[in-house]
Amino acid sequence: MKKQQFISDYAVYDDENELNAQDAELLRYAHEATLNSYAPYSKFHVGAAVRLANGVIIKGNNIENAAYPSGLCAERTALFAAQAQYPDVPVEAIAITAQSEHHEVCEPVAPCGACRQVMVEVEQRHQHPMRIICQGNTGPVMVFDGIETLMPFIFLEKFL
Ligand SMILES: [Zn+2]
Repeated sequence: MKKQQFISDYAVYDDENELNAQDAELLRYAHEATLNSYAPYSKFHVGAAVRLANGVIIKGNNIENAAYPSGLCAERTALFAAQAQYPDVPVEAIAITAQSEHHEVCEPVAPCGACRQVMVEVEQRHQHPMRIICQGNTGPVMVFDGIETLMPFIFLEKFL
């Protein structure tokens, strides 16, 4: 037996003002998207914005349901909408933000495991890495240059 480490490289910015113009713009769209979220149960409003290789930006947000599993996360809402409308266009980046009715969200919010698995498939589909930009409502921003830094030992089609 030998112990091994998984090392993840990502960038942390003090706030959105340190980002390049493209990332800062996408993050603004994600913040806008939180305002249209439907989260009457968790009161936790998540917004996502996807930038496609053709320059189009698609917004998504979490849509909850009284039958809880029927709802969907903001990331998948945005990614599925983007893939439905532009199936042949790679996703360049996704920005994710959140705000809560209960407390200030001042730490970056990372995508859940199911959304990470979907990001893997989107990257595989287009053979193109996806930049992932995460913030809370305010505060620092984490930027990942592809899903593998957020999702080690990914499950791939080759295992089927
Ligand atoms: Zn999710």
